[in-house]
Formats: sequence, C-alpha cells, structure tokens
Amino acid sequence: MKTSIFDLFRIGIGPSSSHTVGPMRAARRFGAGLEETIGLKNVRRVQVELYGSLALTGVGHGTDKAILSGLSGQKPEEADPSSIDSLVHAIRAERSLAVLGRDAIEFDEPRDLLYHNDRVLPGHPNGMRFSAFDPNGALLMSEVYYSIGGGFIVKEGEPASTDSGSLPVPHPFSTGAELLEQAENKRLPVWQLMLENEAALRSEGEVRERIRLIWSVMDACIERGLRSDGVLPGGLNVRRRAPRLYAKIRNRSNTDPFGGMDWVNVFAMAVNEENAAGGRVVTAPTNGAAGLVPAVARYYRQFIPESSDEGLVRYFLTAGAIGILYKENASISGAEVGCQGEVGVACSMAAAGLAAALGATNEELEHAAEIGMEHHLGMTCDPIGGLVQIPCIERNAIGAVKAINSCRMAMHESGRHKVSLDQVIRTMYQTGLDMQSRYKETALAGLAVNVKEC
Ligand code: SF4
Repeated sequence: MKTSIFDLFRIGIGPSSSHTVGPMRAARRFGAGLEETIGLKNVRRVQVELYGSLALTGVGHGTDKAILSGLSGQKPEEADPSSIDSLVHAIRAERSLAVLGRDAIEFDEPRDLLYHNDRVLPGHPNGMRFSAFDPNGALLMSEVYYSIGGGFIVKEGEPASTDSGSLPVPHPFSTGAELLEQAENKRLPVWQLMLENEAALRSEGEVRERIRLIWSVMDACIERGLRSDGVLPGGLNVRRRAPRLYAKIRNRSNTDPFGGMDWVNVFAMAVNEENAAGGRVVTAPTNGAAGLVPAVARYYRQFIPESSDEGLVRYFLTAGAIGILYKENASISGAEVGCQGEVGVACSMAAAGLAAALGATNEELEHAAEIGMEHHLGMTCDPIGGLVQIPCIERNAIGAVKAINSCRMAMHESGRHKVSLDQVIRTMYQTGLDMQSRYKETALAGLAVNVKEC
C-alpha cells in the first residue's frame, strides 16, 4: 500500500487538483531543486511548457497562476487564495518572479509560459516541462512533471509512487477482496482496520485530529458557499446557486418530501462554487469532485438523528479506504479516465462512508461503493470553457444524492451481489482508457462543444 487517506483528503485551493494544485506543487519542487543543484543566483530565466490537457484547459483551471505562485514558493495547503491574484498581477507587471520568494529572475509570460495544445508527453495527459537558463541562454536544468490527479505529481524518471512511498501498515491490501478478507480474518470493521493502518504512520490521536481538521475545512467551505453570492470567475457568467437555494430552504418545514434532496444539493453546490471561485477546499479525491463527500457528511451530521462525531470519523476512514482502491488500481484523474474517475470515485467513497457511519457490515459498504461507481461508468469529462463549473457543480450534487441512494440500496440487501467492487473498478479503468482523449478534460467534445459559451 502506498496511499494514506490523508493523500486523498488534502487541504488546498480551487479550482482543480490536477490543473491547479499539482502544477503548483511541481513548480515549487522545480524551484527548490534549482536552488539546491544550481543555485538561484546563476539563473536568468525559467521557461514552463504545458502539454495535453494542461495546455488545452489550463487557463480555465488557473494553471498559469498556479505555476507562477508555485515558482514563487507558495504551497497549495498554505497559500491564501485571496492573495494569489495580486502576486500573479505583480509578476506580470514587472515581468519578474522571485523564485521561492528569494532571487528574482526574468519571467516574460508569452515567451516563458508555453501552451502546446497539440502535443502530449508520453507519461500522462497532464504534462509540464520546466527549464532554467543562465544569462547566456544556456540550459542549466530541465525537468518534466506529470500531474496525475488529486494533486499528486510524478517527476519523469521517478517511480509513480504516491507522496508517502510504501507504507508500513499492519493491514495492507491492494484490492477490495483483500480489504474484505483482512477485515474478516481480523474481525475488524473497515473503519477500524483503516484507523489501525493510519495509526501506524502517526498516533491515533493525530489521525483523529487530522480527520477533524479536514472536516472543519470542508464544513467551513460549505458555510462560505452558502453565503457567497455573485458570478463565478472565468467568463461563463455562471451565477452561484447555493446561496439562492439556501435562502429558499433554510426556513422551510421538514415535512417537504423533497427537502432532503434540496439540502444535499445545496451543500454540494456550495463547495463546488467555492472551488470554482478558487477558494479553500479539500480534495475528495479531487477538486472537481470536492463537493460530494462533504455534502453527504454534512447531510449525515445535520439530518440523521443518531449521527455523531465518531460516525464522521468512520465515514472518512471508510471513504478513504475506497478511494485508495481506485487510486492504486485505476485512476482518479479526469484527464486519464474521464469524470467517472472524479465524481464517480467520490460517489463510491461517500456511499461506503455513509454506510459505515450508519453501522453497515463490511459487505454492505463494499456493495454501496460498487453501486456508487457502477452508475457512473462511462461518464466523460467535458467542462465548458475548460472551467470547473458546467457540468462539474451540478454533477457533484447529483452524485451526492446518488451516493445516499447507493448506500440505502446496499443496506436493504445482505451484502451479496453479482458485481464486485474490484470488477467495477477494473471496468471503470478500462472504460477510461478506451475513451477518446477529447472526452477527457480537453474541452474538445461533449458539452464543451455543444453549448455555446456566453
Ligand atoms: S467534468 Fe468531472 S472530471 Fe471533468 S473537470 Fe468537471 S468534475 Fe472534474
């Protein structure tokens, strides 16, 4: 096992984990490597080239700003979303950038930030090349990075491992079947097994504290989204809907038979609108799908009478276990497998997490995770204008309702079912690889071409 749940739930900024968070990390890492191996004083300029999906939809996803802030030393988990625009504005005005906040180099954007719309690097659709030059124009250092989804990056030539490497956990598993087998042999619910795995990496108290922190950032994001009106950036003129829906339903009686759906929808849209505005969000497992897991968690905590904080801990540990299966056996990158790898995975995670919080058996939650993905198979990634707005915001709301339905269907059964979680994960991955690349975060097909931008 190479992934911790805290690799999947990471505090960062919007709008995209693969196109914003990953590039920011890669740029910062390149800057740090430059300082260590060459020394920043010897560098006159840096050139960044974007390939494939990053080139095609990078501007809509804020990749340019992420690269500039990353080279300036910003980290996604610490960067103040409200200060990024002014930092980027200053770099553009002065045509100069302080690498890691220290030595200034030339950065003339049309020359030094290139978009290769028609080229893809061999390792992944989201490729970036960073090159540094001396005052005579000689190349000092050049590195290629891939942003492989969920904010994870891989440097060319290095093994495609997660940030944590191989983890020394007591209950390793690589498939859903192994997860269930381990849990059965050790007579543990999945959440407990995951807690023991995570507690091998840090104390149990720290694991619980981190989960609390993740939830508090998610919940704060919901609250901000419910109260922030206005038009989302990017030029599509999408007006935020969460505050309007919230105003309609906040004082409504609980007897509305459709009320539950409205609340799930409003929680998910609140997060995704904050994400689209470049606000503080948590990947779950990506930014584009960041609203689904918090929406189901908030619905559980606010509307299920027997809910508890401990139930939330179980929710996140179980959702994390399911996310790890997708991360390690398939992909959570829309540019690699379409939206089934983002919203589909988030739905599968939330369905299983909710089942665990409600006291389901391990077999029932595996079934819930399977249903959550089965009905997202084949879903493409076709954001209009390359912005994480349409269909992404609504898609999270629909996916959150689907997650709750998946959980309910599974818990009405005994855990016995025809299609296993492993089979559906394999199917998702194969379907994603077979999908034409124009349907995978390129804005070259689907809604992105059939709906006129206005
Ligand atoms: S369509 Fe899905 S995968 Fe594509 S950007 Fe939107 S949320 Fe992400």
